[in-house]
Amino acid sequence: MRIGYGYDVHRLVEGRELWLGGVLVPHHLGSLGHSDADVLLHAICDALLGALALGDIGIHFPDTDPKYKGIDSKILLHHVYDLIRSEGYGIANLDSTLALQRPKVAPYIPEMRKTIAAILELPLNCVSVKATTTEGIGFEDQEEGVSAYAVVLLEKR
Ligand code: MG
Repeated sequence: MRIGYGYDVHRLVEGRELWLGGVLVPHHLGSLGHSDADVLLHAICDALLGALALGDIGIHFPDTDPKYKGIDSKILLHHVYDLIRSEGYGIANLDSTLALQRPKVAPYIPEMRKTIAAILELPLNCVSVKATTTEGIGFEDQEEGVSAYAVVLLEKR
């Protein structure tokens, strides 16, 4: 078995869409980034890569490469999952946390879990997405940005 951990942050700005866990969440601010800037999917990608010491998302999908400009992060997660399988591993389970003040994301979490589970070929009860505010402290509370944490467990197949 292998364990992997991922963390990501994106700035929140006007004039961008807010993609979280593969779901478009209606909000007046969106995530800034080279791709669609889906902070949760990026943290999950990094956890998967980290579990097999395969580097990080920035190495595999450089933000200087025009082919990743505006790319749907679900495509990146697909690529990373293919890589994990090609290394002979499958995923046992995944746990994650989104940290942001607004908007309230609870209504979107079931769709996020479904989306992630479909990409990673996992049953829903192996895909956890949680959300928290940061209690009045930090950039998440100031709505300057959103962060995400993810942990995965891989099993040799
Ligand atoms: Mg990112």
